[in-house]
Amino acid sequence: MNTNAFALRHIGPREDDQNQMLKTIGIDSLDQLIYETVPDDIRLQKGLDLDEPMSEQEYLVHLNEVAKKNKVYKTYIGLGYHPTILPPVIQRNILENPGWYTAYTPYQAEIAQGRLEALLNFQTMITDLTGMALANASLLDESTAAAEAMSLLFAVRERDQKKAGINKFFVSELCLPQTISLLQTRANPIGIDLVIGNEDDFNFSSEFFGAILQYPGKNGQITDIKSFIAKAKVAQIKVAVAADILSLVKLEAPGKFGADVVVGTTQRFGIPMGYGGPHAAYFATKEDYKRDIPGRIIGVTKDTNGNRALRMALQTREQHIKRDRATSNICTAQVLLAVMAGMYAVYHGPKGLQFIADQVHHSATTLANALEKLGFQQANTSYFDTLQIKTDAKKVKKVAKEKKVNFFYPDEETVYIALNETTSVRDINYIISIFAEVANKDTFSISSFTEGNNIPKALKRTTDFLTLDIFNSHHSETELMRYIKKLERKDLSLNHSMISLGSCTMKLNAAAEMLPLSWFKWGNIHPFAPLKQARGYATILKELEDQLTEITGFAATSLQPNSGAQGEFAGLMVIKAYHESRGDHHRNVCLIPSSAHGTNPASAVMAGMKVVVTKSTAEGNIDVEDLREKALLHKDNLSCLMVTYPSTHGVYEASIKEITKIIHDNGGQVYMDGANMNAQVGLTNPGNIGADVCHLNLHKTFAIPHGGGGPGVGPICVAKQLVPFLPGNPIVKTGGAQAITAISSAPFGSALACLISYGYIKMLGAEGLTQSTKIAILNANYIKHRLQGSFDTLYSGERGRAAHEMIVDCREFKANGIEVTDIAKRLMDYGFHAPTVSFPVAGTLMIEPTESESKQEIDRFCDAMISIRKEIDSTTKEDTNNVLKNAPHTLAMVTANEWHLPYSRETAAYPLEYVQDNKFWPSVRRVDDAYGDRNLICTCAPIEEYIDA
Ligand SMILES: *Cc1c(COP(=O)(O)O)cnc(C)c1O
Repeated sequence: MNTNAFALRHIGPREDDQNQMLKTIGIDSLDQLIYETVPDDIRLQKGLDLDEPMSEQEYLVHLNEVAKKNKVYKTYIGLGYHPTILPPVIQRNILENPGWYTAYTPYQAEIAQGRLEALLNFQTMITDLTGMALANASLLDESTAAAEAMSLLFAVRERDQKKAGINKFFVSELCLPQTISLLQTRANPIGIDLVIGNEDDFNFSSEFFGAILQYPGKNGQITDIKSFIAKAKVAQIKVAVAADILSLVKLEAPGKFGADVVVGTTQRFGIPMGYGGPHAAYFATKEDYKRDIPGRIIGVTKDTNGNRALRMALQTREQHIKRDRATSNICTAQVLLAVMAGMYAVYHGPKGLQFIADQVHHSATTLANALEKLGFQQANTSYFDTLQIKTDAKKVKKVAKEKKVNFFYPDEETVYIALNETTSVRDINYIISIFAEVANKDTFSISSFTEGNNIPKALKRTTDFLTLDIFNSHHSETELMRYIKKLERKDLSLNHSMISLGSCTMKLNAAAEMLPLSWFKWGNIHPFAPLKQARGYATILKELEDQLTEITGFAATSLQPNSGAQGEFAGLMVIKAYHESRGDHHRNVCLIPSSAHGTNPASAVMAGMKVVVTKSTAEGNIDVEDLREKALLHKDNLSCLMVTYPSTHGVYEASIKEITKIIHDNGGQVYMDGANMNAQVGLTNPGNIGADVCHLNLHKTFAIPHGGGGPGVGPICVAKQLVPFLPGNPIVKTGGAQAITAISSAPFGSALACLISYGYIKMLGAEGLTQSTKIAILNANYIKHRLQGSFDTLYSGERGRAAHEMIVDCREFKANGIEVTDIAKRLMDYGFHAPTVSFPVAGTLMIEPTESESKQEIDRFCDAMISIRKEIDSTTKEDTNNVLKNAPHTLAMVTANEWHLPYSRETAAYPLEYVQDNKFWPSVRRVDDAYGDRNLICTCAPIEEYIDA
């Protein structure tokens, strides 16, 4: 046996363990278990057609070879992406550190205070720079953030009597092309009428509810947002501003002028371009709209002892509650990237950012002067970092190409040159030499940047930013390293223990999969670089598409959506385009089972569909008769069904083929939510069960780490008839022949993160992938057995088996006064992160161990659960001072001189022996959510500034 095979590193249980686990379940073989779990009629008849697996070493050598096909030119393309300097201390201690990248979304706040603090820093940085009251902790990219701004302004217009029913939205033609494309994608289905035009000619008619400007414009010209917003205010038109975050160091904050929403990307705060992503977008707005903000907001509150604690605020806005009334479907965001960008601000501080912004501006003014000296005309009357040169673009392009330099050429007479943090005096001299050659003149050199100023007085920044201590105390590497470590220690991640979150698939994120993310040749490619420079990426992305197409049993894949929810929206838009291509414009009914994830109905509404909910049976399956009835009732207008498989209840529904047939018979398409793909890979697939399109969560099934709540990649895989409609991009040709407009800013979404899934598939191969699925099912069924007698499993398949996850019922414990939250918090004392709480059924836990967890770890988890069950039994409804209600217990509490609780300190902190060996201390006691929502604070201002004495 090759003991070094990657499958043996990825899969937890050893062969002996597997046999013992099977014995515990009372079954002879793994194949028998699979036979009893996955319905016969959907099993694949042959294995996946994929390359032979590579070892980790072979893979890294391979990826290094492919990387050579990427050519890193000096790049001044701009358009929302810039070369930047990732401080090595952040690279090593965050990007390359599983303590940060393997964490989950901070739903369990008591064991997530570290990343919550880092995200609060990010929000504070954004509110300071934009001059707005509130910011969220990231969106997926600048263009989707702009679309969210438009949606928010559209949603709130109804509250304004004068604007109710008004549907025109003005878009400045100086907005980034990808943003305009995305606004089109998102506007049409919900009935917004986009008017794209020159902002100087805009008439401020009351026919408009809102407008969006780019600040500075795509060509570098600094937009006079001050006058525009002032005029818009008079006409009661709300204004969103898409602002370059670094320029805001020198330009006055849009909030100062009365902007209603400010959005943008924080890529240039130290995040590699990575051929388009992942990067964190930001979204900032006014207090008035705090309940309408898409995505997650981190807020300050207090814990049981009254100490300051952080948590995600206003959770009732989440799609799980609002479902088809949600105005946004955003779930996974860009947490790890937001953490890094926030840390960049902590490291540089206001003075450092000022220095960087000055350097960038001075390099631009220096170059502008030099080019004017050579006789070129620079068309921007004011600018921050981007010059607009009017000349024969073809000529420039020819010379620049030879010299390995990328500019942007919007048309034949124009060249954009966007300068950046990495631009040196040498770089400027090199650009001068290119233009000298074009002009047929002698070149010359400058020896330093001149301190020019090309920012209009009225728009010059006068307001302070980043004045708080946190942004003024960690400017040495030692200090920042320790600060990052201090935060990391507060967070429970996969490098501490298993995180068995149902539906989230927290499996191993292997080091070999992650390493290439730090490599120069993958990080430094601009998404709009000529394809010839990105052949390495093209190779990998094409092969990943093919791999995913094979795994899903479909015809083609688009990697563009950068989260699962984006994938849902993309898939539905593709279905819509398909119906429309056949003249079926009226097909707009989307059937969704009641057990679906909240993003499903939210996405359907964004796609302009009408949601019809279908019932579940008592066994947790889709009620086929109810579905048939509703499909028939709506057959003339049926667009599609959205179905999760195996169901969110953790069951392979035996009737799935019948279900997909009913939909097809009534003219609909079948959308399969692929979040549970970890239960299918190699055993069955969406194509096989009769679906037409599915999204995959590469950050679940295909090993991209959760990063504390993102990044994600949510590709869609489609059947033949849908291929022509796969999403495109306005700058780089991609997608189908009749491509729908953009779903993400970048043509290939978060291309850099795609390397991880490519590596995962490459190293596991067909057999390793299939074995992973089988062991995921084994691990889940083993847990089900071990918990028998302590916890009831809510639903099972026809032969009594769980799929890759299961729901355990905690509702009966209410009789003892114990809520499911108490169990979740008590698990922290045992060193575990809670499974998914109250989804898809309130009062339950959904447990998904994944294949990566060993028998030993699973046993510890089961021991903890069984021990908690005993604790529950020894409590009563009247007794609220017990070990569960008081959980979690902190170190400060257990070591305090005083101890008045009716159980021992040891019971509190070391309830089982294994805990002695590997104790994790929650850094705060139970967090008070309601208090925080009533007193919403979303920046890291010191407590004295907002709490009354
Ligand atoms: C995770 C999940 C989603 C949403 O995916 P994101 O990447 O978070 O947007 C949708 N459906 C199901 C069933 C999920 O588990």
